[in-house]
Amino acid sequence: LRQQSQDTEKINVLSGLAASFAHEIRNPMTVARGFMQILKQPGISEEKRQIYTSMVVEEIDKAQTIVNDYLTFAKPQLEAIELLDAKPLILEALHSIEPYAKLCHVDVEAKLDDKLYISANRDKFAQCMMHLCKNGIEAMPNGGKLQVIGTVQNHSVCIDIIDHGVGMTPEEIRRLGTPFYSTRDKGTGLGMMVTYRVIQMIQGKIDVTSEVGKGTCFSLLIPSLHIKSYH
Ligand code: ADP
Repeated sequence: LRQQSQDTEKINVLSGLAASFAHEIRNPMTVARGFMQILKQPGISEEKRQIYTSMVVEEIDKAQTIVNDYLTFAKPQLEAIELLDAKPLILEALHSIEPYAKLCHVDVEAKLDDKLYISANRDKFAQCMMHLCKNGIEAMPNGGKLQVIGTVQNHSVCIDIIDHGVGMTPEEIRRLGTPFYSTRDKGTGLGMMVTYRVIQMIQGKIDVTSEVGKGTCFSLLIPSLHIKSYH
């Protein structure tokens, strides 16, 4: 009976969430539709055509991100889990975010031990790292330094993402991971929801320490694997 009521509760949560996702997907669709209608008008200048076309693409991408994030949240078991060394993956994520960091005048500093072996989905883990680093960068509107530190501690891989930005109040920390909670103009408020879910799926946990005006440290603690046959 207990299992049954847990299942019902899960279905209720997921269908409630599906409704809010449907609603959020409608926004970019409506905006894209509006731009398409402008584009349909005869005699529209080449310059305007360029601008509106890229805005349509941007809105469609936004809708796609929302759908992907929903699927990661609702069906995480569909993703293949493999043995990974987190170090090269983190470095790759930092490499992709480097141009954005530069644009925001943020220096990214990585200090990573070798052999950060974990069991995770490659793409999803990389996505979490991107979300956390992007959040750290965006927390420093005047630039600064973002540190990523990876160590092996006892039987866990510990990854700290540290920014020296705006920080959060305890109430804001509590709201992290709530779908669509965002304080940013261009935010979807799904990054942390997905990050918590992916890390939870690999039996990891996330600790947040933050002080308003000082900065934030996200600490991921993920069970480490000591597998001799790892290649
Ligand atoms: P988004 O980035 O789209 O807003 P997230 O789920 O990634 O969505 O983050 C939700 C909110 O949590 C952000 O809008 C911001 O207010 C807060 N937040 C997340 N990371 C940080 C951070 N490193 N420093 C300060 N605030 C943060």
